[in-house]
Amino acid sequence: MNQLNPYAWIDRSLATIKQANWYRSVRSIDSLPGTEVTIDGRVLLNFGSNDYLGLAGNERTIRAAMAATQQFGTGATGSRLTSGHKQLHHKLELAIARLKGTEAALVFSSGYLANLGTIAALVGQKDLILSDRLNHSSLKNGSLLSGATTLDYQHCDMDSLRHNLQLHQANYRRCLIVTDTVFSMDGDLCPLPELMELATEYGAMVLVDEAHATGIFGATGAGAVEHYHLGDRSIVEMGTLSKSLGSLGGYVAGSAQTIEFLKNRCASWIYTTGLSPADTAAALAAIEIVTTTPQLRHQLWQNVKYLNELLTRLPQVKLIPSASPIICIELPDPHTAIAIGEKLRQAGIFAPAIRPPTVPTSRIRLSLMATHQQSQLERLVNAIERIFSETEVS
Ligand SMILES: *Cc1c(COP(=O)(O)O)cnc(C)c1O
Repeated sequence: MNQLNPYAWIDRSLATIKQANWYRSVRSIDSLPGTEVTIDGRVLLNFGSNDYLGLAGNERTIRAAMAATQQFGTGATGSRLTSGHKQLHHKLELAIARLKGTEAALVFSSGYLANLGTIAALVGQKDLILSDRLNHSSLKNGSLLSGATTLDYQHCDMDSLRHNLQLHQANYRRCLIVTDTVFSMDGDLCPLPELMELATEYGAMVLVDEAHATGIFGATGAGAVEHYHLGDRSIVEMGTLSKSLGSLGGYVAGSAQTIEFLKNRCASWIYTTGLSPADTAAALAAIEIVTTTPQLRHQLWQNVKYLNELLTRLPQVKLIPSASPIICIELPDPHTAIAIGEKLRQAGIFAPAIRPPTVPTSRIRLSLMATHQQSQLERLVNAIERIFSETEVS
């Protein structure tokens, strides 16, 4: 049809995206990360960050990144197996393994790449992946990349998982169950003990994504696996350095054999440049802080408790069930979510509206930090109360 411009479909596609209120664009935050940030020249109270412990703007992590840059330069200059491996990477991997209580760990350029490569290395065309319906995009795309047959089970529904195992597991060579431990968009927690029972019963491998749990859950901040006392089980644990650890990069932690295998078979680790010295050193410093400063974690959980108390007092606010510092207010449609996000912004508060296709239902997603003050939480709740009483939310 359109021989003149083979890209004309992009315009049409963008128009459809805008019509559905699915259009997104970036905004710049040009200040140090923290509970207050400068967005488009205005200082806003920040409830949109994954920097749960405030470590991205922490003096010690910044100093560690600067020192590593000065000593080792700005880039790793090669892949880890060629010229890009440094003692610093080894130290970080030891620190992750120690935090997680696993034999070994491997760091990746991002959590997304860790999931893509690890899933594709663990299973292939003859295999089966059983995946929670609300898993993160990186788990879903890793499953596609692997070529394995992927079946979704209902969200956190262990009957649905068992049903799928019963029906299908025997028809495949290997089976891998993949799940977020803390679901990134709802903030709820996977029933991991029940999931592990099923995995053991059916001889399935398990990969858990601890992106939103590392540094936050568990007695020492190791994550949800520690929270549930499942540290002795054979689980492939993946996570990111870019949320509570405030840096950039991803990791996989597990048995020495699993990690050795990934070093030889995981394309998204082998064929990419090693983590930069700054990111590596910042993550290492962040893990030290997580390990030696449990008060940070306790402060975060106090904030979670306080905000939940305040929000449940507002009858017009409907919360999505959560067990984490991610607290979502459910809204009927994308239009209302955007309107409320905008009103919050006018009130000096950054709390992003999240809509389809990222999530099935529209919402305002609040993420809490250990460094939020009680008065800041009160300001947020007062603004929400006023805006909801002014806005028709059916
Ligand atoms: C953020 C996130 C990732 C990706 O991690 P990055 O390091 O940002 O690439 C993977 N899984 C989940 C559940 C996440 O929330």
